[in-house]
Amino acid sequence: MTHNERHKCDRKHYRVITRNVSHSAFNGYKERYSKYSTIICLKCGHCWRSKASYVPDTPNYSREEEANYNRGESIDPKET
Ligand SMILES: [Zn+2]
Repeated sequence: MTHNERHKCDRKHYRVITRNVSHSAFNGYKERYSKYSTIICLKCGHCWRSKASYVPDTPNYSREEEANYNRGESIDPKET
């Protein structure tokens, strides 16, 4: 099963947390290049790894958005 089969939020909610970086216990959690980026959905909080074609078009997760998300302001209560 792929991510897209389970997650239906619009891509406008997607942000890239770490772009093309792999964190692995096998290398002591040092950052190294990966085909995969870590994506978060600001709408539902879902987080996943992806190398899909939409990743280069997805904006980075900014510090302002992170602060808003931590206060719960990015999630619309009407849609939950
Ligand atoms: Zn979502």
